[in-house]
Amino acid sequence: MVVIETECAVIETLLVLGASGDLAGRLLLPAVGQLLNSVEGPPMLTVVGAGTEVWDEATWRDRVSNAFASVNAAGPKIENTVATTRYLTADVTNPGDLHRLLDACQGAPAIYFALPPAVTAKACAALSEVPLPPGTAFVLEKPFGVDQSSAADLNAIIGRLVPEDQIHRVDHFLGKSTVLNLLGLRFTNRLLEPLWSADHIATVDIIFDEPLGLENRARYYDGAGALVDMIQSHLLQVVALIAMDPPASLYARDLRDRKAEALRACRVWAGDPAAASRRARYTAGVIDGRSLPGYADEQGVDPARHTETLAEVVLEVDTWRWAGVPFRLRSGKALGNGRKEIVITFKPVPRLLPGLTGAAQPTRLRISMGPDRLALDLNINGPDDPFGIDRITLDADFNPGRLPAYGEVLDGVFRSDPTLSVRGDTAEECWRIVDPVLRAWRTGAVPLDDYPAGSAGPSTWAG
Ligand code: NDP
Repeated sequence: MVVIETECAVIETLLVLGASGDLAGRLLLPAVGQLLNSVEGPPMLTVVGAGTEVWDEATWRDRVSNAFASVNAAGPKIENTVATTRYLTADVTNPGDLHRLLDACQGAPAIYFALPPAVTAKACAALSEVPLPPGTAFVLEKPFGVDQSSAADLNAIIGRLVPEDQIHRVDHFLGKSTVLNLLGLRFTNRLLEPLWSADHIATVDIIFDEPLGLENRARYYDGAGALVDMIQSHLLQVVALIAMDPPASLYARDLRDRKAEALRACRVWAGDPAAASRRARYTAGVIDGRSLPGYADEQGVDPARHTETLAEVVLEVDTWRWAGVPFRLRSGKALGNGRKEIVITFKPVPRLLPGLTGAAQPTRLRISMGPDRLALDLNINGPDDPFGIDRITLDADFNPGRLPAYGEVLDGVFRSDPTLSVRGDTAEECWRIVDPVLRAWRTGAVPLDDYPAGSAGPSTWAG
C-alpha cells in the first residue's frame, strides 16, 4: 500500500530516546521485530537505546530480544539486530549526551522520541546544538504539542533541524488496514465516489468505543482524556480520508495535500463547541464479568482534573462537497458494546412508491475497525409479501494487513516515505479543530456526565 515517490536516504539505525519506557517496550520494539521479520523490513537495522536508567548491555539486549520473541520474530535479521544493539545511559536534553548517542549510530539514523512530550520538546531544542548526520529522520509520538500554538512552536523547532519529509509524526491509525481500505474502497469503485457528498449522504459517524478501562495508564491518560487521546489524533485522520477530494495519486505529497485541505475546512458544528460536544466519565461497573472501579478511584487519577473517558464532538466540513453533513466523532473507554466503526448513512430515496408497504430505512455503509469488516445495509422486497420492504446486509471481511498498524507506519519511516505520517500543518489543524472544545470544557460550559462501566454510555445520551 505504501508507495515511494522519490529516492531517499535509507535508515540504517533506529535511535530510541526513552528506551526504558512503556511505549518502547510494549509497542515500538515488538513492531520493529514484526517489520524485520517480514519481507518488507529493512535488510539490516541497528537499534541504539538511550535512557536515564543505568542499564548494562545484557539487560538491554534481553529487553530487545524478549520484545522480538513476544511477536515470534526470528531469523538472521533478528539475530543480527539483537547481536549489534547497544544501550547508552543519557540525559537526552543534554546536547553533549545527544552528540555521544549520534556518534554511536551508523549511516542515517531515525531518532524515535519515545519520551514524555515536555522532554521531547527539550530534546529537540538541545538537538539544535548538535550536528545531525545526513538523512537523519525524526519520529514523534502523539500528542504532538498540547494545543495549536505549542504544536506550531514544536514544528518551528524541528523544521529548522530536518526537512518536513524526514519528520514522521506517528499516528498508527494511518497504518490500520481498515483505515487504509478507505482508499481502495473510495477510489476503485465507480459505485461509491459519485454518491460521496452531501447530495446523497446524510450523516457520517466515526465511533471508537473500547471495553478496556484505564489499564494502569493514568500517568498519560489522566492528562489527556478521550478527546485528545483519540479524537484529536486518530479519528480526525479518519475524517480526513473520508472527507478529502480524490488526490491525483497516493504518493505522499498528493495524499497529504488533500488530507490537509479537508482538515482546514473542518470546524465544530455551527461554530458552537458547547452545543456540539459531550463528555462523560465512567463509574464503577462490570464488563464481561469483570468488576471495574470508577475512573475517579483508579490508581494515579486525580478526580479534580475532571478527565473525560468518553467524548463526542460533531463537526462540519465546510466545503461544497460536505456542506450540511454532520460528522459525529465519538470515543470512550469501559463501554459495554466495544463498537468501532465508521458509518456512512445515505439520504432516503426522493419518494417511496405507493404500493410498497413497510418503512424503508436508510442505506448504510459500515466499515468496522475491529473486527475488520465491511457491511452494506440495503432494503429489498420481503420474503412473504413481494411488495413489503425487508432489510438485508451484505458483508465481507477485509483482507488482513500485511503488517500490524505500528509496523506499517514504521515501514514508511525506514524507507524514508512520509505517506503515512502526519504532516506538520495537519498536526496543527487537528488542534485548531479541538481547541475550542477543550476551552469550552475548561470553563464548565459542558457538564461532565457519568456512565457505569460496561454500559453503552450515559442514559441521557441515548439516540
Ligand atoms: P514513559 O514515561 O513510560 O517513558 C518515557 C521514557 O522517557 C522513560 O524511559 C524515561 O526514563 C525517559 N526519559 C524521561 N526523561 C528523560 C531524559 N531527560 N533523558 C533520557 N530519557 C528520559 O512514557 P511512554 O513510553 O508511555 O510514552 C512515551 C511517549 O509515547 C509519550 O509522548 C506518549 O504520549 C507516547 N505514547 C505512548 C503510548 C503508550 O501506550 N505508552 C501510546 C501512544 C503514544 P526514566 O523513567 O528513567 O526517566
